[in-house]
Amino acid sequence: MKILCVGAGLSGAVIGRQLAEAGHSVTVVDARSHIGGNCHTERDADTGVMVHVYGPHIFHTDDAEVWDYVNRFETFLPYKNRVKTTSLDPGGKRQVFSLPVNLHTINQFFGKTLRPEEAHAFITEEQADTSIETPETFEEQALRFVGKDLYEAFFKGYTIKQWGMHPSGLPASILKRLPVRFNYDDNYFFHQFQGMPENGYTAMIAKILDHPGITVTLGTAFERAGAAEYDHVFYSGPLDGWFGYELGRLGYRTLDFERFTHQGDYQGCAVMNYGEETVPYTRITEHKHFSPWENHEGSVCYREFSRACEPGDVPYYPIRQVKEKALLAEYVRLAQQEEGVSFVGRLGTYRYLDMDVTIREALDCARGFLAAQEQGGTAPVFFTDVI
Ligand code: UDP
Repeated sequence: MKILCVGAGLSGAVIGRQLAEAGHSVTVVDARSHIGGNCHTERDADTGVMVHVYGPHIFHTDDAEVWDYVNRFETFLPYKNRVKTTSLDPGGKRQVFSLPVNLHTINQFFGKTLRPEEAHAFITEEQADTSIETPETFEEQALRFVGKDLYEAFFKGYTIKQWGMHPSGLPASILKRLPVRFNYDDNYFFHQFQGMPENGYTAMIAKILDHPGITVTLGTAFERAGAAEYDHVFYSGPLDGWFGYELGRLGYRTLDFERFTHQGDYQGCAVMNYGEETVPYTRITEHKHFSPWENHEGSVCYREFSRACEPGDVPYYPIRQVKEKALLAEYVRLAQQEEGVSFVGRLGTYRYLDMDVTIREALDCARGFLAAQEQGGTAPVFFTDVI
């Protein structure tokens, strides 16, 4: 069969690879001049630093098959994401704290020397708002689990900047990504497997795409008319874009990066968040710290600003509020009537997906497609559970 994968990010590359290995002829197109989608990494010519061009990407997963899959194409070296945040303590003094909120953060913030059980009792009995039984909003979730002081220092301002909205209008699920720990474990993620590709994500994705059955065409915007030549399309572009935005645009947040260089070590860590609303950026990333096994004198940093995504901007975070979900439901209805196309990935299904989940779904999608072919059935539209 002739297969078209629209988008040379993780979804398009993994699906393309699986189908090429099964003997299909695959074309992967991307409007950008590089593969890798928003995972794209590029070595800076002046400093030699591997730059995460569209912001930091840290690979972490509990999915052993996905971990084996990425390790098949690239060596993953140990990397632990230890995030810091600059904010005000209850006395109004600016300090650097450890994230996610852990025993060190709690003791430093409140000027205490609590042991784990004492800290647990202090937060749950003296700080947490136990009158909130079932937190529904981001704000309720924070007040319920860490209380007002920690919420205001670390989450409120950051979230207003990140989402352009007050946390009382955002779902609790966003905060559930972040744990609270009553020990000194400052690893941002809790997953069994964690690491960074030795030569960057783009090198890994290039190897995934390196198969005689795959042709990659870059710098070519996809046109719906072009789909007619193919037996099936795996579309990882924006869902609303497939339909020419005919019902309106699904809302995203986009990011602006203010790049700067520095001689030496600018901030001593990869990610420094800024909890105060008055600091206009959400965080500064210093990219050489994402490759701790490398040594570079020079440094490349990004100041990260979040804002509403306009036509022509790079979409990052799907907003998925009530209004967006209603529009999404309408697009899903249209998508389910389409034939010969599967909507995949972060943009194709309008969900904020971590890289491991994207690969898991791409593998499942390719398997489902191949199984349907074997049975002589029509290819399924991979479009469930997205609303
Ligand atoms: N968040 C926050 N303060 C921080 C870091 C995160 O309030 O210092 C909130 C913010 O709303 C963010 C969410 O927690 O959108 C999830 O954080 P995560 O680090 O997973 O965001 P990502 O790195 O994916 O942007």
